[in-house]
This record gives sequence, C-alpha cells and structure tokens, in this order.
Amino acid sequence: EVRVRFAPSPTGPLHIGGVRTALYNYLFAKKMGGKFLLRIEDTDQGRFVPGAEDYIKESLEWLGIAPEESPWKPGDVGPYRQSERKEMYKQYALDLIEKGHAYYAFDTAEELEAMRERLTAARVVQPQYNGITRTQMKNSLTLPAEEVKARLESGDPYVIRVKIPLKEDVRLNDMIRGWVMVHSSTLDDKVLMKSDGMPTYHLANIVDDHLMGITHVIRGEEWLPSAPLHVLLYKFFGWEDTMPQFAHLPLLLKPDGNGKLSKRDGDKLGFPVFPLNWTDPFSGEKSPGFREQGYLPDAFLNFLAFLGWNPGDDREIFSLEELVEAFSVERIGKSGTKFDIAKAKWFNEQYLRSKPNSELVEFLTASAQMEDIEIPLEKAFAIISLVKDRVTFPDELWKESRFVMVAPTEFDQEVATKKWNVDAVKVLSSYSVALDGFTGNFDAVTAKSLLESTAEAEGIKLGKVMQAVRLAVTGMGGGPDLMEVFAILGSVEVAKRIRFALD
Ligand code: GLU
Repeated sequence: EVRVRFAPSPTGPLHIGGVRTALYNYLFAKKMGGKFLLRIEDTDQGRFVPGAEDYIKESLEWLGIAPEESPWKPGDVGPYRQSERKEMYKQYALDLIEKGHAYYAFDTAEELEAMRERLTAARVVQPQYNGITRTQMKNSLTLPAEEVKARLESGDPYVIRVKIPLKEDVRLNDMIRGWVMVHSSTLDDKVLMKSDGMPTYHLANIVDDHLMGITHVIRGEEWLPSAPLHVLLYKFFGWEDTMPQFAHLPLLLKPDGNGKLSKRDGDKLGFPVFPLNWTDPFSGEKSPGFREQGYLPDAFLNFLAFLGWNPGDDREIFSLEELVEAFSVERIGKSGTKFDIAKAKWFNEQYLRSKPNSELVEFLTASAQMEDIEIPLEKAFAIISLVKDRVTFPDELWKESRFVMVAPTEFDQEVATKKWNVDAVKVLSSYSVALDGFTGNFDAVTAKSLLESTAEAEGIKLGKVMQAVRLAVTGMGGGPDLMEVFAILGSVEVAKRIRFALD
C-alpha cells in the first residue's frame, strides 16, 4: 500500500510551497489508492512557533486535503508529533554506533570553531567535519575507549555523528530527476543526536518514515542535498529493502524567475504567499493570506496544482477529483516554476463565474448587510448578472454594484471636467422629463430607445454625451452596461438621480 506523508516543521505559517507539497502528496496518495499522513517535525525546540501547527491544520482543511492520519486523527503508527516520540530515537542512534556507522563526539563549540578557522586558512571552501577532519577531533573514533567511557559516565556533553564512508558513490533514483549520484567525500558527518538528547531532523525523519511505513517521499527540492545522507542511513540501519522512493519537487521562483520565491516578494508586489492570514506571535507582524483576500479554495487548489505540474494537454480547470484522476509524478517538471499571481486571479475568476447565481447572491447580500443595506432578492439576482463577469473576488460583487443601491452624492470630478457640458445637460433634462411620463416595462432596450430618441430630438449625438449620462446616474465614469443598470434602477429612480445631478 502506498503511504505518503507531509512532514512540516511548525516554525511559522505554512508557505505556499509547503501547501503545494501537501497537495502533491495528497494527489499521489489518492491516485494510487493509498494513504496521506501528516507528521509534525518539531524536534527543533528553538524554532518552535506557537500557533503554527493549528495554522497547518486549518490550511489543509480549508483546501479539503486533510490527511487521513495526523496528530489530530491518529492512526496505528503514532504519535504523529516528533516531540512525543523523542524517547525512541536514542536507541536508533546507539544502534548505529554499535554497527560502526556512528560515533560519539565531544568537541566543544570552541574546538569546532578552531577547526573551521584552520580549514578556512588553508583555503578549504566548505569546512566540514568529515572522514579527514574527524581524525583530528575529540570523538570515540580517536579517543581511547576508557576515556570515552569515562566521559560518558561523568556526563560530559556529547553529540552522536554519522560516520560517512570516505569513498563511496551514493546513488538514488529520484522519480522526478532520475539518477542522482553523489560522492561521499562531499558529505559531512552530520549530527544525528544533539547534546540535549534530541534527534536532529535527519535521524528523526528516517526513523519515522521507516516506522510509519512510508513508501514515497515527496518533498521540496531544498531537501535534495540531504537525500544522499538519507539513503546512507537507510543502508546503515539495514532498511534498504523498504527504503521509500524519492520525488523532489521543483522550486517556486520569483515572478521574474530570479531566485526562490520569498515572503518579501509578496510584500513588495502585493500578493500573499501564505494560504491564510497570519500574525507572528512574537513580533505581531501580520501577513495576508489567499483565503482572506477572497480566493476560493477550489480555485487556489487548481492554481497550486499547476505550479510545477501539467496534465499534458491544454485543459486548465480541474476539480480536486479531476486532479486526482489526471495526476502523475512523471508530469511534474524538473525546473523551477515562476509564481504568477495573474494566473491565480484568472483561476479565481473562472471559479467565481461558474458558481450558481444563488451562491453569488449570498456573497453580495452578506457584503451589503455589513453596511446595513438590504437588497431585495429579485434585484440581487439582476445585480449578479450585471457584474459577475467583471469581478475577481467575491467582495467585488458588492463594490462593483454598490452604486445601484446607494445613489451617488458625489461625482467623479475628472470625468465631470471632461464630459459635463451644455449638450449633456440638454439631453439629461429632456430624458428626465420623458422618464416622468413613462409608463410600461422599463427594460434595457426601452431605456435605450427612449434615450436615443431624446438625444435625436435635441439634435445631439448620443455617443458624445453617454459618459455624462453615466456620471449623472452612477457618479462614475465607468462600470457595467448602463442600460442594464437603468433597467434595475427603474425609470423613477433614474429620473430622480438625473435631477439631483442637474441641480
Ligand atoms: N520537516 C521538514 C520540512 O519542514 C520535512 C522535509 C521532508 O519532507 O523530509 O520541510
């Protein structure tokens, strides 16, 4: 059975790249008829941010991709928070020492720093604790066995490091990148167990993926450099047969393609990089979220899915079920994907427009109610037909149509300066008189022919005064089809507004 996991660290709000990783894991699990798990990787207590875990949960629930097993819905392989599993990691580190694949290291911070300085002075580009330098350091490979024993007994602080072989080709067959090969001399003896007794990411991650029966590891490209170490750890533990397959997802790039997308790009260019609003619990700094900006969850999911994947044809609109159906790891790209907020907006428009009008009416009336304005139902439906193709976000339905419910008291001065003239006043005055005498059904066609005949009688070209007419009735220089607006307002209201504007 396929089992995949999303393994976020609760160090802040989930970034859009993290949500994409969760989505691809979800899609892959569903496609393969397997399970999607979530594990909280919170062994780094120093980077723990309160609220981050709830944020992750709420984000995935908002998108409808909640995991089947998680800290909030444990399955058989829990606990699902690494901080609750911390007792079990040490035995695995000790097991590696016993097998000769790890060792105790007693070096102080000063000694490590001195080693780094020595290597830097010798022009070593990347100073590492590795097969060469460890021979000069204080660890259980260099110290006499009695001293090691004495130090451990006296409670000397120590870490446990993995012993990377000196000369070995480490290979892995990444599902997206194909064969990746790294020579072990480029790897360092990473710490597996810290001096406070906590495992590092590498140890906890491998042990947990193994114990949780993970078959495929789908994660961001930033973890590719760690993958060779992970492959070695599977081998050292003797878990090669059940080693998961790896798939490293391409980076999300800045809109101009220059480097990794960051929160600052969003701030600078005015778009969110987080699914939900977030307030930093330490600094109080607020960051906007897609949800609160008015993105619909289905639209946001659809947008996310295309950040690195495509179906191989030109279809773009996919429901979650359709994504599951169409998804395949083979169609995930190798190169980074540029983040394009215009595309996110486009998806939102498509989803908003395809909603039944009754649902859009609810958005509209809810916004209006915030200003204590009640829109009669029939009018609300008419307004929706009027503006639905003009908006990107639900709250714009009201912003774009507010003038229908609230007669203008102020008029766009720029338009007035350009378009308000004697001809306009003439046409508007006689149109208002014509409206007063009007009886019958005032639909858009009637409103228009009445306006046309009025202008004609005055000997004025309608096109020349049309913007002034719009200004008089709506207060603005642009907006939805004006004759449809007239039909919704009714002849009495239109006449009233024109007289107010003429005053
Ligand atoms: N805890 C890691 C993270 O925050 C997980 C990486 C992985 O999936 O192995 O992304």
